[in-house]
Amino acid sequence: MKIIDIITQNKLSLSFEVFPPKSETSFESVKAATEEIARLRPAFMSVTYGAGGGTSEYTLDIAKNIKKLYGVPTLEHLTCVSSTRDTVRKKIEEIKAAGIENIMALRGDIPAELQNADRSDWDYKHAIDLVLELKETNPDFCIGGACYPEIHPESANQKDDIKRLKEKVDAGCDFLTTQMFFDNNLLYNFLYKIREAGITVPVIPGIMPITNANQVARAIKLSGSFMPQRFKSLVDKFGADPAAMKQAGIAYATDQIIDLYANGITNVHVYSMNKPDVAAKIQNNLSDMLGK
Ligand code: FAD
Repeated sequence: MKIIDIITQNKLSLSFEVFPPKSETSFESVKAATEEIARLRPAFMSVTYGAGGGTSEYTLDIAKNIKKLYGVPTLEHLTCVSSTRDTVRKKIEEIKAAGIENIMALRGDIPAELQNADRSDWDYKHAIDLVLELKETNPDFCIGGACYPEIHPESANQKDDIKRLKEKVDAGCDFLTTQMFFDNNLLYNFLYKIREAGITVPVIPGIMPITNANQVARAIKLSGSFMPQRFKSLVDKFGADPAAMKQAGIAYATDQIIDLYANGITNVHVYSMNKPDVAAKIQNNLSDMLGK
């Protein structure tokens, strides 16, 4: 099923993100965790590609398994910047053959050693190159794109970032998913600006439940997200107590989702990061709103 047909207009729905294992050794444990999350019957699940500690090798295996066992629609992430056109085309064919209808078309991060490399002969320079290729060769895919309420770290300013985002959407993105953020006002401000710029596709906000203090530094480094004082106080108070920190992080994420829903946003993506207990607790906290 295509994500664009799943996105609900009037009732809250949650989707969950998982990442594939780093090596074959952890394949079974990751597979079990993703199955547990699938049993919660989210609107869809996304599987990252070479991010969050996993490799790109097992993304499709994990996505296929969830879809086959539980019928949960899956969104397969695909990055292009470090790949050749042949590799990407082969991967697209494999995704299609597996019956997966949704691709999150991403550039991916530029590897540190290539930051200053001459990029003129790279097959893909930006996510838009992958979106255009998908539209041309496989127009039936439902295509997602990434967006950044707090600006992509490489962008000079928000105006440039939104201009590039508009070009990417016009190239063929059916929906957008946001980078994590911890202050909903940043999202509301971003939505206002992108709508003003003529971007009309659905935007699915991405919420990351921070469940341990170590995750905080990592999340900020990865996303450049602003940490509101309310969140910092919570980490100061509970950071040294893992159980309390987890409870507080889940409550904070739940609160963010309730505020989003109260402000008219019905589809929220949770960066559940292979943690079925966290996904389940958030879902339980919202059970009446979700009708589950
Ligand atoms: P782009 O859309 O190409 O944008 C990257 C930068 O280039 C921006 O600054 C943009 O303004 C600029 N830009 C875009 N087009 C042009 C142009 N034509 N000319 C000049 N500048 C341009 N990473 C992974 O490795 N695996 C994953 O599974 C993964 N999943 C993600 C999911 C989400 C929802 C998000 C938000 C990010 C994810 N990432 C993932 C991280 C992502 O790969 C990085 O943030 C990456 O640096 C940018 O990818 P992008 O697709 O947003 O790139």
